[in-house]
This record gives sequence, structure tokens and C-alpha cells, in this order.
Amino acid sequence: MTREISRQAFVRGALGAVAAGALLGSCRPTPEVAPPAADSLTSSMVSGLRDWAALDDAIEGRVVLPSSADYTAAKNLFNSRFDDSTPAAVVVVQSIDDVQRVVEFAARNGIKVAARSGGHSYIGASAANSAMIIDLRQLPGGISYDEDRGLATISAATQLDSVQTSLAAHDRSIPSGSCPTVGIAGLALGGGLGCDARRSGLTCDALVSASVVLPSGEAITASADDHADLFWALRGGGGGNFGVVTSFTFRTFPATDRDIATLVFPEGATEQAIAGWHEWLHNADHAIWGMVNITAGSGSGGCTIVLATPARDGPGRASDLSAAIGVHPVSNTSRTLNRIDFVHYFEGGAQATQPRAFVAGSDIIGEMTATAAESIVAATSTWPQPAGSATTVIESLSGSVSDVDSGDTAFPWRRQAASVQWYTEAAVESANEWLASAHAAVQAYSVGGYVNYLEPDTPASRYFGDNLARLAAVRQKYDPDGLMYSGM
Ligand SMILES: Cc1cc2nc3c(=O)[nH]c(=O)nc-3n(C[C@H](O)[C@H](O)[C@H](O)COP(=O)(O)OP(=O)(O)OC[C@H]3O[C@@H](n4cnc5c(N)ncnc54)[C@H](O)[C@@H]3O)c2cc1C
Repeated sequence: MTREISRQAFVRGALGAVAAGALLGSCRPTPEVAPPAADSLTSSMVSGLRDWAALDDAIEGRVVLPSSADYTAAKNLFNSRFDDSTPAAVVVVQSIDDVQRVVEFAARNGIKVAARSGGHSYIGASAANSAMIIDLRQLPGGISYDEDRGLATISAATQLDSVQTSLAAHDRSIPSGSCPTVGIAGLALGGGLGCDARRSGLTCDALVSASVVLPSGEAITASADDHADLFWALRGGGGGNFGVVTSFTFRTFPATDRDIATLVFPEGATEQAIAGWHEWLHNADHAIWGMVNITAGSGSGGCTIVLATPARDGPGRASDLSAAIGVHPVSNTSRTLNRIDFVHYFEGGAQATQPRAFVAGSDIIGEMTATAAESIVAATSTWPQPAGSATTVIESLSGSVSDVDSGDTAFPWRRQAASVQWYTEAAVESANEWLASAHAAVQAYSVGGYVNYLEPDTPASRYFGDNLARLAAVRQKYDPDGLMYSGM
């Protein structure tokens, strides 16, 4: 192990960690705690310092404490709104054994544990104040592909672009999400909605087994045959709730060329486009996928529908969709892309990897009636135009997503119409007001939210529908002392 912090720096760092109240006080994350003066050290603080040092010695990885030079880099997330977070420590692990040692340490000392994989939590859960962050990004293992069984085993350290790039080399893929730097771990544990969802389901639907370090410190494998209750919960029950997942094994599908068709509909036709798109897609072949984007404050009005279809079907499917909507698009383009270009199209380029401040949330629309479509447009238009721009993204829950029963995995939204995401990078006050008014505008049609688009201070019941009680029981069984922190 490379020692990157001197013993003196380690002790200085420990002061901050002790000050955060994690070792000695309540294990609940607290918003702000001032560091104590060095001469105010109590004997229990001193023993706390020894504990951190012992942990650092016991693992292959390293403990990054608040006074470490790289504490800021170690703790900061994709969403820079959480840059002032103050976790007690970030522990960079390099083996499953490390994860076990760290979890046992946290349990012994009453410190909440928050896992971090891709660091894209919407609520900053993987940098929570006073929690111990287990940073999995240096966990070895990468991605291995078993050609005979068509299974990919992927370390929790892996980001989505690496997943898709590595599997494309074998002409295989798994359903995932759009952002290149989102972690496979957080994505899969919350469900995983993306451009292959109608033909291949959610990311969690492709999960065959997961290696997990439980809050007890035990390392187990969860699958349909082993810890089946946990395996059920890991498929959509949300990141950070049941233990630390160290790797995932997924079923893969063949990577093929796909067409992308982009249709822009004029201002005034958005309600009709949403309702027509939904009805048409709901009845379309599962090989076709589509989403609707509405951007408020951009000055363009209208909406954009993106379709993904089998190669060379794009133009024909785009015409079918326009006819079903009954409005001529102002622009209609199609192109054929190989798998990796298709993935990159949705990733959005190098700029998409840059951290930024954003506010986002979601609603699950039960039925996409004409009035539900109108309410989504009305919700989007509550955006205060001078504040910048905001985007509403509507993704269908039809096709393979609805081939799974609502109780078969923890992800509950198998019989609902669509996920609607509200997203803005504008100033927080306008953003929060908009989010609240958007929720209110669609309230009559919303049955809940998507846990991967988690919002602060919202009850878990919003995300799990009829699966809530079963999830709570699994959580109670595997984490009876509430060691894991997820923000829910
Ligand atoms: C730009 C952007 C694009 C996105 N695009 C999509 C999309 O296309 N589709 C979609 O479905 N979602 C999407 N998301 C949402 C994303 O799936 C969630 O934010 C997800 O939780 C991020 O996972 P992470 O590992 O990157 O984040 P982290 O912040 O590391 O983790 C998120 C949560 O999971 C927990 N966790 C992380 N790793 C583990 C682990 N190994 N074991 C147990 N718990 C763990 C954390 O403690 C935290 O509670 C997007 C998010 C962003 C910011």
C-alpha cells in the first residue's frame, strides 16, 4: 500500500473527523460541526484517532481524513451543489477484504456507511455529512466476459462508458443509462432506465447475481438461488440500502447497429406529440425505443422525440410516428450508428463528464391520457424563463420493462406509462420552486418517483409503491442497526 498521508497529517485529519461527531457521537449525518481546538482533545477522541490509524494500517487502501490534501478531491461528487459536504472520512478500498474491514470498523464505532461508485447521487448521498464514505473506484476486477454463458461480471468501480466500450469489443452489451461517468452500481441498484429498455429491460433486469459485503461484514453472493430476498431488493431497491455491492454479473445481449431518428415538433403541438408518441410506442415492436424532450427557456418551444430502431428502420418508423401523432415535424433526421457510436450519441460528448450543479426530480405517470400530457406541458411551462433553461425528459415504461411483474423485482413501476424527469442547472432557488410546481402540476397523474432521481426529504413510499413493505423487511433483516446511509 502507498502511504499518501504522513502520520502527522493523519492525526490532523482525524481531528476533523472526530469533530464531525462520527466516532464519538451520534452516527446520524449532521449538517455542520466546528472542529475542536487541539487542546480540547478528550481521551475518547484520542482513542478515536488511534482507531483511524489502525484502520489505515489494516487495509490495502487508505483513509482520507478532512485535513488530508486530497480530501476535497476524494469526497466531491458530480453534482457540485454538494461540494461543501463534510464526510467523516473517505476510505478508498482496494479489495473485498478492505470493504469488510471498513464496514466492521464503522459498525464498531457507530458511523454510518455510504458507498460511492460513480458519485452521481442526486442528493449527495455518497458524500453525506459525518458518514464514512467507502470509495469503490479503485476496486480491481474491471469487466470480464464469459463467452460461453454470455455473462459479464463488472466491478462496482466501473462507469457506464467503460461498461459499454469493453462489452462492445465482444459485440455484446447490457441495458444501461446515458451518462458516461454514472456508476454501474448506483444505476443498477435503482433500476437503470436507458435507450435499450424497451427491447432489453432495465439494467437491474439483466442482473444475474451480485457480490455484496453485508452490514455484518460478511461477504456473500446474492442471486435467485442464494439470498434471494436480497437479490430481489438489489434490483431497484435503491443504492446504499442493504450493503456494499462489490461486483455485478449481468446477462448480455448482442450489440447491433441501430438507427436514431430525431423529430422536432412545433410549439403548440407538444401535448399532441406526447400523447401520440406514447400510444404509438406502447403498441410498437419492443425493438423500438423513444423519449420526448421539452426544453423550457430555450426559446425554441415545441419538443423533440428521439427514436432508436433496428438499423435502417429509422426513416420508416419516424414517418409512422408522425402519422400517429397527426402533426408534421419541423425537422426529421435519421442515421445508422454502430453500437459504440450509438452509446456515444446518448452520452452527449466530453462536456457530459464535467461536474456541474443541478437540481432534478421525477414523477411516474400512471396513465398517459391527453390530460396527463397537458399537465406535463403545463408543469414544464411553470419554469421562470429569465432563470435560464430547464428540461423535461419523458421515457416510456412499456416494452420489456412491463414484461416483468411489479413484484418480481424491487423496481415497482412495471404497469405505469412513463417516467418524467425534471432537470435544470439554473440557480437553486428557481430550480427548487420549479420542481415543486412541476410536481404539483402533474399530481393528479403521478403515482410516485424514480429512486435513481432521488429528491431530498421525500418518503421512501414515493419510490417503491406496493414493494415498500417487502423492501423494509429486507432492509431490517440485513441492516438491523441501520448502518447503511442512502438518504432515504
Ligand atoms: C448526468 C446524469 C445522468 C444520468 N442518467 C441516467 C440514466 O440515463 N438512466 C438512469 O436510470 N439513471 C440516470 N442517472 C441517475 C443515476 O442512475 C443515479 O444517480 C445513480 O444512483 C448514480 O449511481 P453512481 O454510482 O454514479 O452514484 P453514487 O453517488 O456513487 O451512488 C448513488 C447511490 O448508490 C449508493 N451506492 C453506490 N455504489 C454502491 C455500491 N457499490 N453498493 C451499494 N450502494 C452503492 C450510494 O451510496 C448512493 O446512495 C443519471 C444521473 C446523472 C447525474
